[in-house]
Amino acid sequence: MNAPKALRTPGDLAAAKLIGRDQLRSLEQVAARYAVSITPALTELIDPADQFDPIARQFIPDTRELVIAPEESPDPIGDDAHSPVEGIVHRYPDRALLKLVNVCAVYCRFCFRREVVGPGQGALSPSVLDNALDYIRRSPQIWEIILTGGDPLVLSARRLKHIVTRLSTIAHVKVIRVHTRLPVAAPEKITPTLVRALRVRDKATFVVLHTNHPRELSAKVRAACARFIDAGIPMLSQSVLLRGVNDDAETLGALMRKLVESRIKPYYLHHADLAPGTAHLRTGIAEGQALMRELHGRTSGLCQPAYVLDIPGGFGKSPIGPNYLSADCSVVEDFNGRRHAYAAACSSAGKNTAVSNS
Ligand code: SF4
Repeated sequence: MNAPKALRTPGDLAAAKLIGRDQLRSLEQVAARYAVSITPALTELIDPADQFDPIARQFIPDTRELVIAPEESPDPIGDDAHSPVEGIVHRYPDRALLKLVNVCAVYCRFCFRREVVGPGQGALSPSVLDNALDYIRRSPQIWEIILTGGDPLVLSARRLKHIVTRLSTIAHVKVIRVHTRLPVAAPEKITPTLVRALRVRDKATFVVLHTNHPRELSAKVRAACARFIDAGIPMLSQSVLLRGVNDDAETLGALMRKLVESRIKPYYLHHADLAPGTAHLRTGIAEGQALMRELHGRTSGLCQPAYVLDIPGGFGKSPIGPNYLSADCSVVEDFNGRRHAYAAACSSAGKNTAVSNS
């Protein structure tokens, strides 16, 4: 029997009963614009009888994707403005992205790089990769390299090993961080060989898992993540706040707890970027802040990600609250929402005062 394959067209989705035949024509228009792929591991998690299924919502195309809001942009976080050479985004002084590939195992409907990722987009050519690595070598301020794409882990273990080994020869690069959705999309692909490919002497390697709903963390996915962690590669997580997927405190709390139980530290909760055709999946920032307050009130500090916004135009990420301290530092709010006076001033009167020993 043939192994199940990813669903890549509206026809595949209809055959799998994830959409109705009557939706075929309209969703083909969406698929012509934005790539579609749902792996067998994620297809298994979808309940076709539930029209509000949070996994389906992340991957099944929707005609609303063809409605572009005026504030949306094809390059919502300004990658292009900070790309000194092809394959590199150098936004912050001490770290740079190395975008190895523009292909993913699954295509998320909210993707902020949806205009550039998709089948056939391929990986960096050898000469472009050489040039990107040269840029890193010539930039001694780069302390951390973030391997991204697309999903860098769709590359073969051999190719990843080759790239990581070349990075390991650059003395000023101390940390290699890999951003991936592959452990969720295809946990069987996180093999011991792939895990070994990412480990390199004298550099700290971190893997950041992209995951948005607690149901994504199946036993197989947690076992795949354990292969990284048991090999000495710590894991962090990053999630996107999405309407109808995780925009309630119970789901968000369950996701963060399940991550921590799997030895994965929640790192970022992204406010959804202004990617084209994604307004139906975006919440308001005030809703996000209210959810973060609830999370703070009901879950351990280990379960708290930073709620961040990538500022449109390429100005980087900023934490966007909520804020628990008044502007003049006179009132601070506790985890139950009760407000307390704080007597000391915002800045210390003794700051920079020399200590006299006489
Ligand atoms: S895995 Fe990441 S890069 Fe790929 S489609 Fe999803 S959000 Fe975009």
